[in-house]
Amino acid sequence: MMDLSGKNAVVTGSSRGIGKAIALKLASLGANVAVIYAGNKEKADETVAEIEALGVKSKAYSCDVSDFNNAQTLVKEVIAEFGGIDILVNNAGIVKDGLVLSMKEEDFDKVISVNLKGAFHMIKSTYQHFMKKRYGRIINISSVVGINGNAGQANYASAKAGLIGLTKSVAKELAARKVTVNAVAPGFIETDMTGSMPEKAKEAALAAIPMKRAGQGEDIANAVAFLASDEASYITGEVIKVDGGMAI
Ligand code: NAD
Repeated sequence: MMDLSGKNAVVTGSSRGIGKAIALKLASLGANVAVIYAGNKEKADETVAEIEALGVKSKAYSCDVSDFNNAQTLVKEVIAEFGGIDILVNNAGIVKDGLVLSMKEEDFDKVISVNLKGAFHMIKSTYQHFMKKRYGRIINISSVVGINGNAGQANYASAKAGLIGLTKSVAKELAARKVTVNAVAPGFIETDMTGSMPEKAKEAALAAIPMKRAGQGEDIANAVAFLASDEASYITGEVIKVDGGMAI
């Protein structure tokens, strides 16, 4: 039985979607959760209230993870408030889709700086803390697109593939300190991010899923909870696809 009682988790982009489902799942297993959001304080406060109703501590923090100073300040504040960090989930992400022919350079840079550098900033800011603790769980939310590529998402797929390289490298660096670093690669999950896709693209994505259904945030949260648990203490540098068979 997975138990995260007494553990402190930081989940970026947890005011909604997959991040919120992860935050609630970790809280349901007993973890205190710092809810990190980019813009919507109201939604973040709602998530905090739902987490507190589960009987654990929670607090919302506004932070743009693409800004290193912002990430560093955030981590210091969370450690001061919660007394430490045990679990870091790098979930924050954006899309700026388009074929390379029409993709602006700034749209490539922006997606890399949030989806890939954001995770690097958070890992760099918590690195020494985890080293000293000789314990930690870092879980990066990648994508099956980072494994297989996707037309119209060169920026996003590059960032998500980069996250896998980041995961494996940091896993090797921190393994001796009993800090595990893994990635979860979701397929097509029903959230605001996929809700804004054109109908035709949604139909095509669904048709490519052997299980014939879109995933839910909870499907991803279950994999994250497992990787955060003691049961997964000998798993590091791994990428778990949670995609209904989409990328087999
Ligand atoms: P979403 O758009 O609903 O949520 C993204 C979250 O990231 C939001 O809370 C947003 O505020 C936050 N965020 C965005 N920019 C940020 C920044 N600069 N700093 C801090 N937070 C920021 O998306 P989602 O579908 O819930 O996706 C969550 C993660 O899962 C993303 O990394 C996404 O790439 C990944 N993913 C999603 C799917 C899917 O099908 N939905 C598939 C594969 C991977």
